[in-house]
Amino acid sequence: MHRRRRCKIIATLGPASNNEAAIEGLWRAGADLFRINMSHADPADMRERVAMIRAVEARVGRAIGVLVDLQGPKLRVGAFATGGADLVEGQRFTFDSDPSPGDATRVCLPHPEILSSLLSGHALLIDDGRLRLHVVETAPQKAVAVVDIGGRISNRKGVSLPDTEIPVAAMTPKDRVDLDAALETGVDWIALSFVQRGEDVAEVKRIAAGRALVMAKIEKPQAILRLDEIIVASDGLMVARGDLGVEVPLEKVPGLQKRITREARRLGRPVVVATQMLESMITTPAPTRAEVSDVATAVFEGADAIMLSAESASGRYPVEAVSMMNRIGEEVEQEAVYRSIIAAQRAAPERTGADAVATAAREMAETLDLKAIVAWTSSGATALRVARERPRAPILALTPNRDTARRLTLAWGVLTVVTKDAHDVDDMANRACKFAMRQRLALQGERILIIAGVPFGTPGATNMLRLAFVSEDGFHAE
Ligand code: PEP
Repeated sequence: MHRRRRCKIIATLGPASNNEAAIEGLWRAGADLFRINMSHADPADMRERVAMIRAVEARVGRAIGVLVDLQGPKLRVGAFATGGADLVEGQRFTFDSDPSPGDATRVCLPHPEILSSLLSGHALLIDDGRLRLHVVETAPQKAVAVVDIGGRISNRKGVSLPDTEIPVAAMTPKDRVDLDAALETGVDWIALSFVQRGEDVAEVKRIAAGRALVMAKIEKPQAILRLDEIIVASDGLMVARGDLGVEVPLEKVPGLQKRITREARRLGRPVVVATQMLESMITTPAPTRAEVSDVATAVFEGADAIMLSAESASGRYPVEAVSMMNRIGEEVEQEAVYRSIIAAQRAAPERTGADAVATAAREMAETLDLKAIVAWTSSGATALRVARERPRAPILALTPNRDTARRLTLAWGVLTVVTKDAHDVDDMANRACKFAMRQRLALQGERILIIAGVPFGTPGATNMLRLAFVSEDGFHAE
C-alpha cells in the first residue's frame, strides 16, 4: 500500500467503526491516524480501541497514529423537573447554584467558579448556540439573563461562554484519569479541549513527560487572543471548528482557520482542520459541493491533516467518507496551482542548523528534481522541520524509534520506516537508497537526498546532506 497524499487523514472511531475489520477498512481507504474521543469513551473503551488499532498496524505493516482527545471542561446546566423548559425571547431566566430541578424561570449551573465570573453583558449560548441569552444582573452564586434567541433548554445541555474567561483548570478529574490511562496505553498524541492559555498545554506536557505529543484544540476566543503562546507551548494544533463556530460568529471561522494554519506552519507545528468536513456523509453516500470545497481549502492551505468526526464514528458511510477525503486530497495536490499556493505560505527558516539543512534540502531537491528527501530522525524533529518546508519531493523518515514513526503519521508529506540506526555514513546512504526504492519513491539511477545528524543518535544534531544515485546494490555517491 503506497500512499502519495501529503495531507494526512484522521478518522474518529465510534459505534460505526469500533472493530478491527472496520478500522482496517478505514486505513485501507486512506486514514493515517485514528482519534478516540473521550467525550464518548472511558479508559477501558480506549484501551480496547488502541489494541484494535495496534493489531491492524501489525497486519498492514505500517505505523498508524492514535490520537486521544480529552473531553475538557465542557460546561452543562443541571436537570429540570419536567426534563426541560421552553424559553421565549425577552424573558428573564436565572442560572444559580441551587441543585434542585429547574423550571421555566431558573436552572442550576453546577460550576460555582463560573457563576462568579459571569459579568453583565456576557453571552450564554446553550445547546451549541441554538439558544442565546445575555447576563443582565449578577449576585453571589446567581446570574440573571435575558433570552435573545429562544427555544427548548433541557437536562444537561452544554453551555458556551464566549465572553467569559473560565477560571477552571483545562483538565477535569475525568481528563486526568483519561490522560493517565492514555499515557499508560502508549498513545501517540493527546488533544486538549477548550485550551485558554499556554500554561494549560504546558501542564499536560509536564504530565506526559515525552510519552505522547500534545495538541491544543483551538475552540475558544480566549485561545485566539493567546494563539502565539499556545502554539509555542504545543506540539500540534487543531482548528476545532465545531465549538469554535459556537463561540465566535460563524463567518469568522474561515479567517481564523487560515490564521491558525499559517501560524502553526510558520512555527513547524502540525495542524489539523477538524469538524463537519463531510457532514452530509453521515447520512448520504455523497458529500455536497460545498463540503468538497471545504476539504480542498484545508489541503490547499497546507494543513498537515484533515479530520472526520461523526462521519467515521457514527455515520452510515465511514469508508466512503475517508475515501472521498483521500480522493479530494490526491486531486488537489495534483492541481497546477497547488504548489504555488503552498509555497506562498512558506515561512523563512529559523536560524538553526536543522532549519538551514531542511531549507537546503528542499532547494537542492527542487533544483535537481530529486525523487525523495530521506531524513534519518530519532525524535522526529528533523522530519518535522523538513515537512515545514513543504517540499515537492516526498519525505521519507527513517527512525529506530517506533513511537516516532507513529507520531509522524500526522506530519505533512512524511512517510516513515522503522529501521535500526545507521552505524556509519555509507550504511546511512545505502539504507536510505534501499528504502527509497522499496517504497517506490525512486528507481534505479534516480537521485535522492539524504539528511542526518552525525554522530548518529545525537538528538538535534542535523548537520549533514548527501546526494546519492539509487542502485540495486545500494548507492553511488555523486
Ligand atoms: C470541535 O469542537 O470541532 C471538536 C473537534 O471537538 P469535539 O468533537 O470534542 O467537540
